[in-house]
Amino acid sequence: MDILLATGNAHKKMELDRILYPHRMILPKELGITYEAIENGSTYLENAFIKARALRKAAKAQGVTLPVLADDSGLSVPALQGAPGVYSARYGSQEGGPELASEERNALLLSNMNHLEGLDREAFFVCCMVLILEDYREFTVQETFPGRIATSPAGCGGFGYDPIFFLEQEAVTVAELQDEEKDKRSHRGLAGQRIHALLESLA
Ligand code: IMP
Repeated sequence: MDILLATGNAHKKMELDRILYPHRMILPKELGITYEAIENGSTYLENAFIKARALRKAAKAQGVTLPVLADDSGLSVPALQGAPGVYSARYGSQEGGPELASEERNALLLSNMNHLEGLDREAFFVCCMVLILEDYREFTVQETFPGRIATSPAGCGGFGYDPIFFLEQEAVTVAELQDEEKDKRSHRGLAGQRIHALLESLA
């Protein structure tokens, strides 16, 4: 099945291409569809709905009725009251200004956590997905990926906060995992597996 993906993030598309295979992720710009989604929700769920519905509306206006999938995700640190959370992409950037580079965001988070040790460095990734099959046929899943914030970055795989997200058991960061290993257990991998199963059950 071809699915319109509500993202401009090339890394998310790459991961979802693998996770949802053989379904094909199509980016709106490939079909000349532009849409604006103001992600002002206070939860991952609200923001995923904002993106999915904005894209669905813009696609329908151009006669495209493919299913739409949105992924809203981020990193939450309980010891920082859930930050960066829904602001993960914009962490450390000025209101209305450009996003920081991942390396800068990671350095900022590490310095904001300087005083925290042990269990206080626990964190989890969250991924909320909204799938709109047709009007009023909307499905949602949300999954997590627990770990710890490392004291320095390591690895060059993945994207975003992966180099500072440490997995205690393997003693590696997510950026040091093979893609397939990340997919098996990550927040996006688990949420995607549920969407995959849902699509199979509809076939
Ligand atoms: P969104 O595109 O508004 O959902 O923002 C998601 C942000 O959360 C990304 O820009 C990353 O900084 C972070 N993020 C989400 N998923 C991951 C992941 O799998 N690895 C690392 N960072 C992630």
